[in-house]
Amino acid sequence: MIIRPYGVVIDGELQLGDELVVEDGIIQEIRPHTGMPEPWIISPAFVNAHSHLEYRGLQGQLSESEFHHWILEIGAAKTEQLAQQVRADCLIAAQENRAAGIAWIAEHSDRLGAREAMAATGLNGVIFQEVITLIESADPGPKLDAIREKAQEQDAHLTPHAPYTVDRTTLESFASGRDLLSIHASESPAEQELFHRGTGPISDIHEKFGFELGVGGMSPIQYLNEVGFLRPGRQLVHVCEADEADIDLIAAQGVSIAHCPRSNDELSCRPAPTRQLLEAGVPIGLGLDSAASSGPINMFSEMLAALEASYARKEPISPESVWRMACEGGAESLGLSGWRIEVGSRVPLLKLNIESLATTEEMIEQMSVERVEWLQTD
Ligand SMILES: [Zn+2]
Repeated sequence: MIIRPYGVVIDGELQLGDELVVEDGIIQEIRPHTGMPEPWIISPAFVNAHSHLEYRGLQGQLSESEFHHWILEIGAAKTEQLAQQVRADCLIAAQENRAAGIAWIAEHSDRLGAREAMAATGLNGVIFQEVITLIESADPGPKLDAIREKAQEQDAHLTPHAPYTVDRTTLESFASGRDLLSIHASESPAEQELFHRGTGPISDIHEKFGFELGVGGMSPIQYLNEVGFLRPGRQLVHVCEADEADIDLIAAQGVSIAHCPRSNDELSCRPAPTRQLLEAGVPIGLGLDSAASSGPINMFSEMLAALEASYARKEPISPESVWRMACEGGAESLGLSGWRIEVGSRVPLLKLNIESLATTEEMIEQMSVERVEWLQTD
């Protein structure tokens, strides 16, 4: 099968003048055009490096714009939702991920519904069943058993939600295992205040539940390192507050990042230091997080937000590096290899129906979900 678009995205760069030869879904050859090109572009499919399908029903429903207030608001909104509704929301979100050109997701799941939604829509990925022991920290055993049962039901594996919502002993037991784990970390100024000074709004919530972390004088990233969490196969979500010492630790320990710029912007979190992380060689994926914080499921909006976040920090990154984050960066952040257009790869391919573009920057600015089609190659 010869695929002859006018442009192919290789390593995030829109290259003009090449065609692909594909057999049984495997790219056999990339060569100069041998005929008239068609009016579309080929890109690797996207990887959504951090997702919460179950919050799709809360898109546009929450009004708090400060992270710790928003967390309380979404917690309250969840108690109003029925299990059946959550499953239906997961299905809509999975359909929208597929329509947006996403082949693979890293799903953080609390309630049930993600696996069946993914199976029904052909969306691949890993499901992390979130562990929170904030209320049960004195005796987390029964809560952990209940979460394990849920995880089994949807073929998920357990992961701690955040360094400040899981008791230290439980976090250490996960840290010492070999599993692929993903954790929200260093997201908000409130989290930073808790770990540095032991005070602030998250500390107030801890007090309410009699939850003692005993932290102070360190960053959340340093705390994660201290409990043994930082090692290859570990993905940190957000890292908005990471400073130079944190970035050095992340790079040295072989940890990856999920960057969620629209969610960060919506919840008054600082833009993450993506340029410094990239320069340190850290794999970064783009995550659409939840539709309740990020808005509609759309990787092009997320890519634009990633560019804008880097400009806001006055540490600009290139459009090509952002497109890579949406594809191979996301895959690398989750331990998947070969997620790029190269000979021998079986990466799923997208057909982007847009004419006359010359650069990746133009693609990010002008593409829309309506122009995405899946390319059948086997
Ligand atoms: Zn999240």
